[in-house]
Amino acid sequence: MITQVSIQGDFSMKSAKKNRAAGKNPDLLIVGGGIAGLALAVILGQEGVCIHLVDPYPPLRLKDSAPSGRTVALMESSLNILRVGGIGDVIDRYGTPLQAMRIIDDSVPGQEILTRDFEAQEIGMKQFGMNLPNSILRAALFDRVSQLSCVTLHIPGSLCGYQQEHHSVCAQLADETLIHARLIVGADGRASTVRSLSGIKSRKHEYEQSAITCIINHSRSHNFIATEFHRSGGPLALVPMPGNQSSVVWVVPSRQADALMALSREAFEQSLQEKTDNLLGGITLDTPPEAWPLMSMTALKLSAPRTALIAEAAHVMSPITAQGLNLSLRDVAALAETVIDALRLGLDPGTPGILRDFEKRRRPDIASRVAGVDFMNRIVSNDRMPLRDLRRVGLKIISGITPLRLQAMRHGLAPSMDAGRLSRGLPL
Ligand SMILES: Cc1cc2nc3c(=O)[nH]c(=O)nc-3n(C[C@H](O)[C@H](O)[C@H](O)COP(=O)(O)OP(=O)(O)OC[C@H]3O[C@@H](n4cnc5c(N)ncnc54)[C@H](O)[C@@H]3O)c2cc1C
Repeated sequence: MITQVSIQGDFSMKSAKKNRAAGKNPDLLIVGGGIAGLALAVILGQEGVCIHLVDPYPPLRLKDSAPSGRTVALMESSLNILRVGGIGDVIDRYGTPLQAMRIIDDSVPGQEILTRDFEAQEIGMKQFGMNLPNSILRAALFDRVSQLSCVTLHIPGSLCGYQQEHHSVCAQLADETLIHARLIVGADGRASTVRSLSGIKSRKHEYEQSAITCIINHSRSHNFIATEFHRSGGPLALVPMPGNQSSVVWVVPSRQADALMALSREAFEQSLQEKTDNLLGGITLDTPPEAWPLMSMTALKLSAPRTALIAEAAHVMSPITAQGLNLSLRDVAALAETVIDALRLGLDPGTPGILRDFEKRRRPDIASRVAGVDFMNRIVSNDRMPLRDLRRVGLKIISGITPLRLQAMRHGLAPSMDAGRLSRGLPL
């Protein structure tokens, strides 16, 4: 049976609210219920924008979730965006403050071990941000979105095709449901179906590296310091969690990742212990190690007719420097602000001019972050002499010259080029 959910004509907020009451006429079809897609649905849905959201896999509810092996370090500006989505209490309950960042470079045997600390209070902040379990964030957003009467969930559901119509797109789900919406948003991750159906090309690079992640218990306190080791083979980050726990992101060449994943629990703990120089005392695994193949990808455009791409559908990067979801949440904020501003003016949010505004706003931030993280990834994963020395000299210069140091810390938190309302903690 084919079910139809459709829209026509009047684009104002008043009509959006009326449609919500009638349970029809979606403004947006969001494809992908990862953290980015859910955050967009919550932020716009609570303003009365009528949304349909599709994802094949139902997330767990918060009451059934436990922290899994992966966490995200989110900067204050990203937390502001999520707080607008009404999950501030969850952030405060499950998040661990990141008050300082320490870089330890001992990549040159026999030479000085460089240790440099960057503290949030140097730039007048209590903390750079918080570390949060992915599973908890997704569950909290799913709980929120399920409470909103103007968001219709198609979970489990999967997009298989869509086409342009006069004032809308018509999307078909795998169960043959048809949804007509003014704008389709691809939040469907790195292998985005929306990106390929829209014909948007992408530039990709496989790093032949994997990130091994897990949560560890340790006998010494982390003192709310996130530590990144730069050593031969690839960087390793320890990011604070509640109590004496930390999450680990250990970037290694893919072949070495296979070997590490094949180790017994005790042997893996032993190699972590050695790699981290006993910094946090005795280590035991709290969650089993998982390996994530790394790549860099940028969509060549962020929009196509009645289509917008956000988050990993638009850009993927190495997890070093913890920028991925932070960048994605700025996409979410920019698209939410662009759509709501259009609707408040009675405009159709799926028209080319509106989508051009979104693209213009996000392009410089995305291009510079993806290029910057790619450069950093090459430089911190490289043991060849010129690059290794450049990295050590760079660290000395940045940490030694106060204005540079402060500028680097501020830029790491959020770019000045896209500070919208939500990232500054202002209402939508
Ligand atoms: C090891 C590691 C550590 C990281 N650490 C950090 C960090 O500290 N800080 C940070 O900011 N970022 C970090 N990141 C990046 C961050 O985790 C990702 O950017 C983020 O989780 C991606 O979210 P997303 O919503 O874009 O994509 P996803 O989580 O991939 O969500 C996409 C969703 O789309 C759905 N989908 C796919 N196809 C379809 C379809 N056809 N129809 C409908 N739905 C579909 C999927 O089921 C999925 O739920 C890290 C990444 C890695 C790998």
